[in-house]
Amino acid sequence: MKTIGVLTSGGDAPGMNAAIRAVVRTACQSGLNVFGIKRGYDGLINNDMQMMDLRSVSDIIDRGGTILFSARSEEFRTQAGIQKAIDVCRMRGIEGLVVIGGDGSFRGAKELSEQAGDIRFIGIPGTIDNDIPCCDYTIGYDTCMNTIMEMVDRIRDTSESHGRCFVVEAMGRYAGHLALNAGISVGATCILVPEVPYDFEEDVIKRLKRFLATGKQHFIIMVAEGVWHVNGSDPKGSCTQMAKEIERLTGIESRAVILGHVQRGGSPTVRDRVIASRMGYMAVNLLMQGQGNRIVAMQNEKLLHFDMHEAAKMTKGLDRELYDVAHIISI
Ligand code: ATP
Repeated sequence: MKTIGVLTSGGDAPGMNAAIRAVVRTACQSGLNVFGIKRGYDGLINNDMQMMDLRSVSDIIDRGGTILFSARSEEFRTQAGIQKAIDVCRMRGIEGLVVIGGDGSFRGAKELSEQAGDIRFIGIPGTIDNDIPCCDYTIGYDTCMNTIMEMVDRIRDTSESHGRCFVVEAMGRYAGHLALNAGISVGATCILVPEVPYDFEEDVIKRLKRFLATGKQHFIIMVAEGVWHVNGSDPKGSCTQMAKEIERLTGIESRAVILGHVQRGGSPTVRDRVIASRMGYMAVNLLMQGQGNRIVAMQNEKLLHFDMHEAAKMTKGLDRELYDVAHIISI
């Protein structure tokens, strides 16, 4: 193998730059050519890439986002789009791809690899949502949890001063990992996640009233955005509606805060930088060993790698024990 490419795809996540840096530097020091492909699969299809060297990844380890830019490519979902990408790989001599992204990005890489036959890929899990089944941890998750904690700490200050209830929505797509962990870190009164059904009257309203009766005067309700997608969960449908309903039923002045895209940005934490660096190093080494179609994954603090098909069969749930702990101590 002489030439590889690296791209970031799907939602951006803090720490992706650290992974790109590790991929480029490991490749350069191993005598490989490495192309930095812009805007995910769109850049591959459109031959939008540049040769990287040791210095082209200087001063990026502390930066959020991705210097290669990211995209969701509709064209790459078609056979014709994948064929265009394969043709570009052949023209550029790219025999291996490092794909930094989520599950969808790995599915795309698998399609390309299977259609091409001779182009291998290694996936590096990069998403704030921590929703990739074979991994305990994904790049960007730690930074995002810390960002949510910092934002909600600020909200707590005003919540306390005015004796208000804040309904705070965290990202996470269909997973509640961000809301659960960040919720515990800010002492949220209720944590609502898509994985655990709840009854609004019983688990929110009555809980708030009980706590009011014991003298508690301000409240944080942490809601994972995925809650609104789960059929039959809360009928309120949005943070704003839930806050109104809480105010109506409890008399506590309530406000809604949707944290939004602030959660995606920021300088990555130590954990994100270090793990992303290790993953980038491992990905290039796997390609050099002749391996392909594997996903690099952290499990129980160990860096492993799984075959793409094996990884696709894995499932991952919410840490139910942690959820139960949160319920007990947030009182
Ligand atoms: P995130 O978790 O941040 O959303 P993701 O990688 O799961 O990241 P997706 O939007 O699901 O994000 O996928 C990223 C891109 O991967 C898509 O825009 C598409 O180009 C490609 N892709 C996803 N699934 C497939 C597929 N089955 N075939 C071909 N390409 C795919």
